[in-house]
Amino acid sequence: MKLITKLSQSKKTLFSIEILPPLKGKSIQSIYDGIDPLMEFKPAFVDVTYHREEYVYRKRDGGYLEKVSIRKRPGTVGICAAIMNKYNVEAVPHIICGGFTKEETENALIDLQFLGVDNVLALRGDSIKTEPAFVPEPGGHAYAIDLVKQIAEMNKSIYLDSEMKDAAPTNFCVGVSCYPEKHFEAPNITSDIKYLKAKVDAGAEYIVTQMFFDNSKYFEFVKLCRENNINVPIIPGLKILSSKQQVTSLPKIFHIDIPQAFYEALESCKDDKQIKEVGIKWCIEQSKELLKENVPCLHYYTMGASEATRAVAKEVF
Ligand code: FAD
Repeated sequence: MKLITKLSQSKKTLFSIEILPPLKGKSIQSIYDGIDPLMEFKPAFVDVTYHREEYVYRKRDGGYLEKVSIRKRPGTVGICAAIMNKYNVEAVPHIICGGFTKEETENALIDLQFLGVDNVLALRGDSIKTEPAFVPEPGGHAYAIDLVKQIAEMNKSIYLDSEMKDAAPTNFCVGVSCYPEKHFEAPNITSDIKYLKAKVDAGAEYIVTQMFFDNSKYFEFVKLCRENNINVPIIPGLKILSSKQQVTSLPKIFHIDIPQAFYEALESCKDDKQIKEVGIKWCIEQSKELLKENVPCLHYYTMGASEATRAVAKEVF
């Protein structure tokens, strides 16, 4: 079922999660072990992230270094199919521009359609670690909007080969991402909102936010979106901060702030166990406040921490 249908039919705030494929070599059981404890909260959908290749240098005989391309977390599409089959829940693969030609994107979307996947989250993707800025694949897309446009065309039976006759239309519901604290490359929020609106105008039917720890940032952002005629559901994404290391790494990686009151509570913790307790408490409060405002769905970035997500969901749903 399309997420937009689920979102518009539901009278209450839905619950959803995002998971990462396991590291290459690990079994799919680790995915099930993460989802099983959360099934009692009836997730409306499970997002599965996509991880592109990285380059590493391997020492070879003779001492020279060889540049090798590796993908540490493959399996997004297979995991989506497995989740839908095992749990009868909607799985949403993330598809990215980076590393894909348009042709490869088209073929990947055909695979997804054949597997019965109805929803995709269309993203640009980040630059690979060895590149200072995002570089599109030759013959690929430079921005998420171009990916949204390609999917919207396929939904109208328009494939890359203009000579194709009687092509079956795909039927994807497309989501895109947004950044209540601004995307780090955007010169300002006005410009970021302008491009977000362009993604919606191109066919995106819902939006998922980057994680945030300060609800007022989300509320202000939604207000700004509505003022700019972005009228699709904007799903808040929440992360449970659960280790001392994350206090500095999350702001650095995701370009987000930790509110002062939260930071002070975290600072007074002696160890990671206490940090996790404070993180869970903060996320419960955030969730309850968002719930009061009738947000369409609360989307949790589990990042493998399903135990903490369960602790929050038990208090909120
Ligand atoms: P875009 O919408 O393309 O925007 C990128 C930047 O370019 C923004 O600053 C925007 O303002 C600007 N811009 C947009 N269009 C134009 C234009 N036409 N001209 C000029 N400027 C423009 N990454 C992964 O690799 N895998 C994942 O699974 C993944 N999942 C994510 C899930 C969520 C909910 C979020 C919030 C992010 C996720 N990311 C993932 C990270 C994401 O790919 C990065 O944040 C990336 O830097 C931006 O992606 P985007 O789709 O928002 O890009």
